[in-house]
Amino acid sequence: MTPDFSKGLVPAVVQNAETGMVLMLAYMDEEAWSKTNETGRAWFLSRERGLWEKGATSGNTMEVVEVRLDCDLDAVLLRVRPAGPACHTGAESCFFNETD
Ligand SMILES: [Zn+2]
Repeated sequence: MTPDFSKGLVPAVVQNAETGMVLMLAYMDEEAWSKTNETGRAWFLSRERGLWEKGATSGNTMEVVEVRLDCDLDAVLLRVRPAGPACHTGAESCFFNETD
């Protein structure tokens, strides 16, 4: 199966395949999806950077272990083996902010 890109970008939840920790959320278009499948590493689309490979500059790439699609095929789950922290701050996961 492939994601449904007919309504635009598709969100991708990235999870550590070994620990289950949720690492980050990013968006994919068809090109990012294709690159991810071709290379076995995580590629996304961002407004600022366009098509980018996670870790291309930081070295913290993500090896994709498994890909799942949700029930309506409009969200992606990437289960990955990260080479380093997912977050540009150096945090293991982007989701470190607690709410008030
Ligand atoms: Zn982050």
